[in-house]
Amino acid sequence: MNEDEIKIYQNHHLENEVNISHRGIIARAYSGTASPRQAIKAMCLECVGEIRADITSCTGYLCPLWKFRPYTKQRGNDVQLSDNATVPVEFES
Ligand code: SF4
Repeated sequence: MNEDEIKIYQNHHLENEVNISHRGIIARAYSGTASPRQAIKAMCLECVGEIRADITSCTGYLCPLWKFRPYTKQRGNDVQLSDNATVPVEFES
C-alpha cells in the first residue's frame, strides 16, 4: 500500500468509523503531529473501540503501553489486578 492509499484508508476510517469527538487526536496520530502522549491515547482509544472506561479498566497487563494509558491515575507500583485476572504461576507472590 503506498502513501496515498494509506491516507485514503485512514480518512475513510476517520470519517466513517471514528466518533467525531476522537477524530482530531487520531488524525494527528496518523499525520505524525501528535505528541507521544496523544499517540498513546489514540492507540488506546482504537484498541478498546473508543470506550474510555475500558481503557481505565484495561487488563492488558502485558501491553507495553499499559502504564502509559490515559484515563487512569494508576502510576508507579500501585498496580491492582482485578479479581479475575490471571497471572502466570512464576509471577505469583
Ligand atoms: S494499554 Fe490497554 S487499551 Fe491501551 S493499547 Fe494497551 S491493551 Fe489497548
